Amino acid sequence: MDYNTRHFLIESKRPEEGSATDSIGGYVGKVLRVNLTEREVKTHPIPKEWIRKYMGGRGVAARIYFEEISPHLEPLQSDNKLIFITGPLTGTIVPCCGKYECVTKSPLTNRYLCTNASGFFGPELKKAGYDGLIVEGKAKEPTYIWIKDESVEFKPAAHLSYKATTETQSMIKKETDPTSKVMCIGPAGERLVRFACIQSDHRTFGRGGAGAVMGSKQLKAIAVKGNSSVKVSEPEKLKDKLRTLLSDITAAARDYRKHGTLYIVDLADEKGTLPSRNFQTVTYNFAADRLGVKVMEKYFVSHTACYNCPTACGKLLEAKDPPYKGIRADLDYELVWALGPLCGVFDYSPIIAAVNLVDQYGMDGIETGYAISFAMELYEKGFIRETDLDGFDLRFGNHESMMKLIKMIAERRGFGDVLAEGALRSSGRLGNTVSKYVMHVKGLPLTGWDPRAMIGMGLAFATSSRGACHNVGGWTGRDELLINEADRFATKGKGGLVKTLQDTRAYIDSLGLCTYMRSPLGFKGAKPDMEILQLVTGVDFEGGLMEIGERIYNLERIILNREGVTRADDDLPQRIKSEGIVVDDTGLQHFLKDEEFQSMLDEYYKERGWSLDGVPTQNKLKSLGIP
Ligand code: SF4
Repeated sequence: MDYNTRHFLIESKRPEEGSATDSIGGYVGKVLRVNLTEREVKTHPIPKEWIRKYMGGRGVAARIYFEEISPHLEPLQSDNKLIFITGPLTGTIVPCCGKYECVTKSPLTNRYLCTNASGFFGPELKKAGYDGLIVEGKAKEPTYIWIKDESVEFKPAAHLSYKATTETQSMIKKETDPTSKVMCIGPAGERLVRFACIQSDHRTFGRGGAGAVMGSKQLKAIAVKGNSSVKVSEPEKLKDKLRTLLSDITAAARDYRKHGTLYIVDLADEKGTLPSRNFQTVTYNFAADRLGVKVMEKYFVSHTACYNCPTACGKLLEAKDPPYKGIRADLDYELVWALGPLCGVFDYSPIIAAVNLVDQYGMDGIETGYAISFAMELYEKGFIRETDLDGFDLRFGNHESMMKLIKMIAERRGFGDVLAEGALRSSGRLGNTVSKYVMHVKGLPLTGWDPRAMIGMGLAFATSSRGACHNVGGWTGRDELLINEADRFATKGKGGLVKTLQDTRAYIDSLGLCTYMRSPLGFKGAKPDMEILQLVTGVDFEGGLMEIGERIYNLERIILNREGVTRADDDLPQRIKSEGIVVDDTGLQHFLKDEEFQSMLDEYYKERGWSLDGVPTQNKLKSLGIP
């Protein structure tokens, strides 16, 4: 078929009466399905029952994955799919509702992956007339998809091959519409680096390698432009409601805007939870003087925001010192940590330059920093030599070597090709004895919180639906560090805490709402106020949001179970259980003994209604109506 052929949508056979969602506020009523192999484009509704049970975003995407992705599928083969789904609030006038979810099989963990992004693409997709987009198959040559309302075109992308993410997006805007929104991969995605990300403006689908899945399909980018607006059920009442919340929204936005997530450097350093040197240690009263908010302000250029967001939590910083002077990047805490203290680097200029590099190559900054940190430890322990590295020194803190290695990974050159497989897979090529130094759960590295200093976080990492993650697994920092509601070194009660955090995050990710604005809008954890959702949708979601969150988490668990996950996979790296860290002036060594960890896990399974093998019981599934 000719590349320039314009494809118009074919309405697929409409399901049985009453299953469409076009009559519900906040939903358009159809999902776009694009098959790259066949160059076929069609639409279909999301069944109403799925909306009632899983709402949207992560929940509905997981439900589609459950139906369509075989547990035996190879993530980089053409039968994997990229399932992008918005939530009912995405693109509405409710502030901070630019979120949408991507679900696929991860080439990094070889399992279910959910990853979300803010930005502008999700709202634009909805304005073009779609609640979501499912990409299937594999193009015969480099391609990008151009969606303009009901028109969908397959465009040639050979001229964009190996272009950086910023250049790709601007070239596509010139070729399509300067106001279109573009998501794309960089050279790392095209080279199938297993932790390549999908980038759109300054936001990414970061963790787990969705960018490599896109690269395996020879799909360089997707551009969208929509000319409709998102209809809600009670527009005037919604405006009135938002007016009553205005002072809370403004206050929350003002507090968070100042430093975004970068305030966490100071918090984590004060509490001794900030991991350094591949989790061999944590910083305590050390990082704040070098990377804390007072230091960050010297590099500050501007705040960056997503769709309809008064907060603008993104922080665009500019490097001041040679050889990085003038390089800019948008930073958050996890990026600063992974390409900073985790690699022994405590200086903003190289960190900004490193974040800029991973963004332009299109790689997840957390996994990139993690893989380099792992390699630095192996170098210092003598498992890797300079001769393996084109002659450079890879000790912790050597930021010049860190830059070289980022490029080598993205271009799959030399030792970079080994690390491009992700730390866990690379350990297989480096000899079995080094696998004990990989700090991961289910193939996904731990993030910037040391579970020895806040042990509820260890349970959250171990039981997160996508491998170690403080978002999907539940961030226990509010309870364990900020309000001291839970003793951070105690096991008791952590099962219930982590379950609540996970279920909460599952419904937030399904609304299409950024988590940072949830409280002022009434979505307060375990006791959410449903009014805004009802005004948007006109639907009374039976059972409430916590039940929807719990249903989503259980659905994800049975997906993981069928992909081979058992209790043995809900575990933490040996280092966390056997090597102590000092987190405060007492000088005490803290680690999480295996028996303590197992008792937390037992409590968690009990709270969840799962067997002691980590499988949801039939009673639990029945009570939640799964699938
Ligand atoms: S708070 Fe930050 S991540 Fe959330 S919508 Fe606003 S700018 Fe985006």
